[in-house]
Amino acid sequence: MHNDVLIVGGSFAGLAAALQLGRARRKVTVLDTGLPRNRYAAHSHGVLGHDHKSPAEILGAAREQLARYPTIELINARATNASGTLDDFAVTTQGGQIHYARRLLLSYGVVDKFPAMPGFADCWGKSVLPCPYCDGFEVAGQHWGLLYSGPHSLHMVQLYGDWTDRITLFADGHAIDAQARADLKRRHVSLVEGKVTGLHHDNGQIAAVRVDDTRDVAVDVLFAHPHNAPAGDLHTALGLELEDVGLGVALKVDDTRQTSLQGVYAAGDLANPMASVTLATAHGAMAGIFAQRSMLS
Ligand SMILES: Cc1cc2nc3c(=O)[nH]c(=O)nc-3n(C[C@H](O)[C@H](O)[C@H](O)COP(=O)(O)OP(=O)(O)OC[C@H]3O[C@@H](n4cnc5c(N)ncnc54)[C@H](O)[C@@H]3O)c2cc1C
Repeated sequence: MHNDVLIVGGSFAGLAAALQLGRARRKVTVLDTGLPRNRYAAHSHGVLGHDHKSPAEILGAAREQLARYPTIELINARATNASGTLDDFAVTTQGGQIHYARRLLLSYGVVDKFPAMPGFADCWGKSVLPCPYCDGFEVAGQHWGLLYSGPHSLHMVQLYGDWTDRITLFADGHAIDAQARADLKRRHVSLVEGKVTGLHHDNGQIAAVRVDDTRDVAVDVLFAHPHNAPAGDLHTALGLELEDVGLGVALKVDDTRQTSLQGVYAAGDLANPMASVTLATAHGAMAGIFAQRSMLS
């Protein structure tokens, strides 16, 4: 049977879209593999009404609430291919099932690509953190390290000043020019030259950053911004336009969250580099509503 909307990725963005569509009594199927980007973190912050709850708790409650709506079906499956045009899309799953829909909504998020640095993956989301708005409050006033990953790291140093005045920038083999050095000095930010070769940690809690395999610099937390990539590849199969967003790519969308292909909508981190549960939820709701409005007779 044809769905009105098939949603690929059933986390914050995808479930928010499903909620709006279910309430509009539209037939919706959500395909999801259960790997939200923030699953490494024990708590999710800055989410109104849900601050400091675990990501799994927030998503679990959302799934329970969606069970009220008879036209929404949640399926645990990986989507592997998509094809078609307006009113006639098909999505294939790893198990070989084909789902048909009048509209597609892509919300499968992005995957962070961890550097091959011993200890990095163990600490990610626990004491190696991407975002001060997500976790900065809990570690305010502590000694923060920042792994340099490009000129934006110098802006980060300025931003972090609202949370702590104990910051060490690890150049990680990059050249830092004289102007940047002067700015770091003015802000009392320590600069550690050399290549970061590993992280010492105890069960994910960082103790020190190893530099050039010879010295250790103690920190309480380390901020880092690894590159990322879309978690799925359906956008390639559909030929959707992308834009470069610094650490990765994002699907291009218009003000209604529609991608470059009519009838295909996108929401969440896949189409917005400012990673946030609140924004993913808001854009998911928008995409769901605009997809529904595009089907009125
Ligand atoms: C360590 C860390 C901590 C964070 N902490 C916070 C925080 O405290 N507060 C905050 O607001 N934000 C936080 N974020 C950002 C937040 O995680 C993201 O903005 C949010 O998860 C984006 O939601 P999404 O629905 O777009 O994608 P995701 O949550 O990443 O979900 C994508 C879903 O799609 C599924 N999927 C992927 N590919 C397929 C496929 N082919 N077929 C079917 N399903 C698929 C995945 O399994 C997943 O369930 C954090 C991020 C990280 C990395």
